Formats: sequence, C-alpha cells, structure tokens
Amino acid sequence: MTKPTILTVDDDPMVSAAITRDLRARYGPDYRIVRAGSGSEALAVLVELALRDHPVALIASDQRMPEMTGIELLEQSRAYAPGAKLLLLTAYADTEVAIRAINDIGLDYYLLKPWDPPEERLYPVIDDLLGDWARAHPDLGSVVRVIGHRWSDRSHELKSFLARNHVPYGWYDVERDAEARRLSELAGATADDLPLVLVPEGATLRSPSTLELAAALGLHTQAQQPLYDVCIVGGGPAGLAAAVYAASEGLSTVIVEREAPGGQAGQSAAIENYLGFPRGLTGSDLTQRAVAQASRFGAEMVLARDVVGLETRGPVHAVLFEGSGEIEARALIVATGVSYRRLEAPGLDELTGRGVYYGATASEAGQCAGDDVYVVGAANSAGQAALNLARHAKRVVMLVRAASLEDSMSQYLIERITSTPNLEVRFRTEVGAGRGDGHLEAITLVDRDSGAQQEVATSWLFVFIGASPHTHWLGDGVVRDDHGFVVTGQDLLAGPSAEAWPLPGRAPFALETSVPGVFAAGDVRLDSMKRVASAVGEGAMAVYLVHRYLATI
Ligand SMILES: Cc1cc2nc3c(=O)[nH]c(=O)nc-3n(C[C@H](O)[C@H](O)[C@H](O)COP(=O)(O)OP(=O)(O)OC[C@H]3O[C@@H](n4cnc5c(N)ncnc54)[C@H](O)[C@@H]3O)c2cc1C
Repeated sequence: MTKPTILTVDDDPMVSAAITRDLRARYGPDYRIVRAGSGSEALAVLVELALRDHPVALIASDQRMPEMTGIELLEQSRAYAPGAKLLLLTAYADTEVAIRAINDIGLDYYLLKPWDPPEERLYPVIDDLLGDWARAHPDLGSVVRVIGHRWSDRSHELKSFLARNHVPYGWYDVERDAEARRLSELAGATADDLPLVLVPEGATLRSPSTLELAAALGLHTQAQQPLYDVCIVGGGPAGLAAAVYAASEGLSTVIVEREAPGGQAGQSAAIENYLGFPRGLTGSDLTQRAVAQASRFGAEMVLARDVVGLETRGPVHAVLFEGSGEIEARALIVATGVSYRRLEAPGLDELTGRGVYYGATASEAGQCAGDDVYVVGAANSAGQAALNLARHAKRVVMLVRAASLEDSMSQYLIERITSTPNLEVRFRTEVGAGRGDGHLEAITLVDRDSGAQQEVATSWLFVFIGASPHTHWLGDGVVRDDHGFVVTGQDLLAGPSAEAWPLPGRAPFALETSVPGVFAAGDVRLDSMKRVASAVGEGAMAVYLVHRYLATI
C-alpha cells in the first residue's frame, strides 16, 4: 500500500527545511513528506500524484509567497487532491485573511509561525487533521463488506449502523456489481440471506440484526458490572457529555445507545456553531472525539441495545433492554433525544429507507451523485442537509410550507442556500404523495395556495419536519407534557404535575424528573434549546446534580 503524501510548500528554504524536518520526525514512518518551493512547483507535484492515483493527506503551505499565495495554491489544489486537509502557515498579520479562507476555500486550519515547540504547537494540530483524513480514507483491503440490494431498507439500516459507528465498509450492489454477485455466489447466499455481511477474519452474516452485527464486530452489547453509580440512556451529545463528566469525576458510568453514538448530531455534515471549532466540524468527527474521551476516562459503552422499560427498586433504578437484559444504577440520566416526525402523505411509509429518509444525509449524500433530490423542511437541519446534498446531487429542491425561510433558519445558511447554483427553494409547497415499485420513483408536489399538483420523478426524498421525543419507555412514573417531553426541576412544581413529586422534604434539582434520582438532559427535556452546545451543557450539568442527589441517599 502506497504511503499517503504530506506536501509542504514554502519559498523560504530555511522555513521549508524546518517544517519538513519536524513533520518527517513524527510522521515519516506512515507518510511520504514531499517538499515544494513555490505554488507552481506544488501544483506540478499534485498533478503527478493524481496521475499515479497516490493519495494526498495534507497540504501545508506558507501564505506569503511570490507568484501565488498559499490560499490561491490551496484553492487550486482541490482539483488534484480533493480530500486533502489544507493547512495554512501564516504570520500574525495574515490572521484575518486566514479566517476568511475558512469560509471561502474550506481551509481546515491556520497555524501561526513559528510553531516551536512542535510537540505543543504543531503535532496536536497535525494529529487531528491526519486522524480525520485517515478515518475518511480507510484501507479498503481490510474493511467489512456489505452485499445487498440498493433499495433494500435492511441494507440501508446495516450501512447506516456501520457508518455511524465508524466501521469502514465496502458496499456491493447485487444489481449493478459483478463482484457483488460473485461474493454472493461464493457464500451460497439465497435472496433471504441478503444483505450479506462479510467481516474480515470473521463470520459471514446473513441478513443480521444490528445486535448480531455489533457482536460480530466485537462492539460491547452487554454491561460488565451488575450495578453502576450512573447509567446514561442515549449516546447523543447530551449523553456523551454526561459520560465524560461522570467518568472523569470518578463515578462508575455506563452509557446505553441503541443505534450509534452521536445521536442527531452524528448525522450532521457540518456543525458550525459549536464553540471552539471556527471551521465547523462534522457530526462524525465530534462523535469520534467524544467517544474516545469518554472511553479514556473509563465510561463503559453498551451499543445496539434498545432500552424499553424503567423500574425503580428502592434506591436503585433499572433500565430494561428489548429482548432480555438490564442494567442497574443508583442514578439515571435520560438523554434519548428526539427523532423527526413522519410526513403524512400516501405512499411514503412503505418507501421509508427506500428513497424516503428522515433526518439522515451524511451517509446517503454520496449515493445521490448526478440525481435530482428533494428536501422537506425549513429549519437549520433541512438547510444543512440541502447544502450537503448539493455537493453531490445534480439538483436539490427544498420544499418549504411557509413563504420564506427567515423565521425558521439561521441567516448564514439562507445566504449559502441562495448562492448555491444547483439548489432551488420552492415555497408554499408540500408533498402530497409518493410512489414507487420497491423504491421511490416519484413524488407529487402540491401548491398550498392554488392546490395545483405536479408529479416529479425522483429517487430521493429527505424529510426534516420537527421532532418528537423518545420517552415512551419511561412508563407512567416520569411526568411528561402532552407531546412527550420530560418535565424537570421547577417546571414540575408548577401546575398539576406538582402532585407527582414524592419528596416533601426537598424540591427537585434543576434537571431532575418526577422520579428522584432520574435526570433528563438535552433535546428530550421540555423547553430545551435543541442545539449541540445546550445538550452538551445539560449533560455536564446533570452529572453535577447526580453528585448532589447521591449525597442525599
Ligand atoms: C441533520 C441535523 C443537523 C443538525 N445540526 C446542528 C448544528 O449544526 N448545530 C446545532 O447546535 N445543532 C444541530 N442539530 C441539533 C442537534 O444535533 C441536537 O440538538 C442534539 O443532537 C441533541 O442531543 P441529545 O443528546 O439531546 O439527543 P440526540 O442527539 O437525539 O441523541 C439521542 C440518542 O439517544 C438514543 N436513543 C433514543 N432512544 C433510545 C432508547 N430507548 N434506548 C437507547 N438509546 C436510545 C438515540 O439513538 C440517539 O443516539 C442538528 C440536528 C440534525 C438532525
């Protein structure tokens, strides 16, 4: 396997030698470090590498060079090394130019010169960039292979599970791909065996459940201890933040997640409003970092388990898994979030997962290349999804019930939508029906003012239309509002729910539910802000309140 390349570009021979030396010292064993003395020389190197199909992981360029600036070079480099991470080396005076380049050319990072000592100022940045690049470009020789039908909802479910759990996989479509048919024949697979999953040096799985797949991949699906200080249900931003804080503060901690860590945020192609990441970051990167952080502190993660019940047994709470199994803990944090509401239009239910998708895009976007795609919704999540899809699809049409986006979407997204040539917004329009034989083939658009209907051909409909919380499993003991959102803290004591609070001696803590010792954090909580940062904040705060609760029992 060819080592990926790191290209350094600087016209000053001393600086060029220094950056090349520092990079070689740390990354030499895994990457080829190539040096260029000008923008044009760098472009010539990139053309050569592209012709030989050699991967480029990172381009680190000085900004101030004669002929061509670093930003100009990095912008042009996209044509030859599309996935490479772009790093600009700047002087303090160029900071503003560098910040602009984050938006304009998708610069990944800028680093102020000098970078001494490299252990503190250079390597952490490069480690992060190369880590992201390596995750996006796995060695395809050693990955899981999924063989199935393109429009099968089971194939979609397994591919999503793998992608969202950061397991690299190769997809083989039996209808289009000779290799898929060969592998399927080799395994002696019948139609009922599809999708087939081939795990390297492991089992051949025939139409496995996500639980079976998780077990075959060696992911934890069982808790290791009989009792924990705190159990967190839901591995989105709120749950992961709670896990990091609880475990780092010495509580024995377990987190249960039924699909994949990251929750809704894990599906976001670009989170741009999370503090500390001026370039934004993908939900998948944020998740990867949070999972590593939680594990580093000793939090245990149980995956592919759906929590279906809650029982309180004296001072202990038990969460019950679907099928069999349970976990007991002295305190519980409910961080099960929300999921998108279903679109009520004839024909769509049968096609869910077969061209009609709710809240998803990151893993499907690449498959829409060259197609017409429709996105329903007018909030930030719909806007982000449409922009992400527009990078792959021939044309993206947003269907919006209202007459404008101003009331529902952030201004920065509206501006980007307006300036994206292959993205069109149709206001006062909704989906009246969908149809297709086995997968979506067409949808009917309805003009809300005139009632006029128009059928358009498409294989892709992505829906983002408001959310309902995952709280049915909490039973009757935990008070919720009419929509199912969990009522906590002072809100519990207002109105009829006051009677549900059982402890006359103390008021509920801020994020505590009507069951003492059971807390709620993130989108699942009534009146929460529905943002990554607020979910993370509430997850952390819930742990502080768990400490206070544990001191009372
Ligand atoms: C496409 C998209 C883009 C977004 N972009 C942004 C953005 O740019 N900026 C921003 O601030 N916000 C954004 N949001 C909103 C943000 O992602 C959410 O506010 C945030 O993820 C809420 O975190 P949470 O942990 O409360 O819940 P969730 O993220 O919903 O996570 C809940 C988790 O609980 C699990 N779960 C649910 N029920 C069970 C059960 N019974 N058993 C086990 N596990 C269960 C789910 O599988 C899920 O993983 C976006 C949302 C979407 C969908």
